[in-house]
Amino acid sequence: MKYVIDPAPQAAAPVAGSDARFPVRRVYCVGRNYAAHAREMGHDPDREPPFFFMKPADALVTGGADMPYPVATSDLHHEIEMVVALGKGGRDIPVSAASDLIWGYGVGLDMTRRDLQGEAKKLGRPWDMGKGFDKSAPLAPLHPVSATGLIEDGEIWLDVNGKRRQQSTLKALIWSVSETISYLSGLVELHPGDLIFSGTPEGVAAVGRGDVLHGHVDGLSDLHVRIT
Ligand code: MN
Repeated sequence: MKYVIDPAPQAAAPVAGSDARFPVRRVYCVGRNYAAHAREMGHDPDREPPFFFMKPADALVTGGADMPYPVATSDLHHEIEMVVALGKGGRDIPVSAASDLIWGYGVGLDMTRRDLQGEAKKLGRPWDMGKGFDKSAPLAPLHPVSATGLIEDGEIWLDVNGKRRQQSTLKALIWSVSETISYLSGLVELHPGDLIFSGTPEGVAAVGRGDVLHGHVDGLSDLHVRIT
């Protein structure tokens, strides 16, 4: 293929214990998937079906790189999440078959310019500039499901400068990973290389320059990010 300008490099995520990388196609994120987080954001978790937004694939920050404090915000929030990487795609996937699509898992941060997101919510505008900005998606190395087995339980937590800020269990997900994949596949066709950020538990708060974030999900590589 001949292009009129150089094509963008393929976005990719590191894989634990391997030199090969996971090529990333799209990054989907689930909103309000833990009841206590939905409540802290002012919503009733019992009345909402899952909803989704996206980040650009090139927003990923991998390899333990620093995250520069983004422009245009004074309220940068952390959201620790388990990330699901798809090795297969499809549409209208039944819940019972959804786990067949999973290639693996990782620990990610859905970093959020909360002031811009809040303004967008108030004005009925899209969230993109609050959620999908440059370097908004730090991600630890992925682990293949062939090594971990299906992850449906376990602790998820985030420390900032050594202090626990978020802590929950994957059992507290309102929509399980399989339910999320199934629902999303009814809205768009999923493909190999898609990532799904599965939602964050309660305790989201602001971080600043110099803060060190340490995220964890049982059974996966921890995520370490410094805000610079
Ligand atoms: Mn999130």
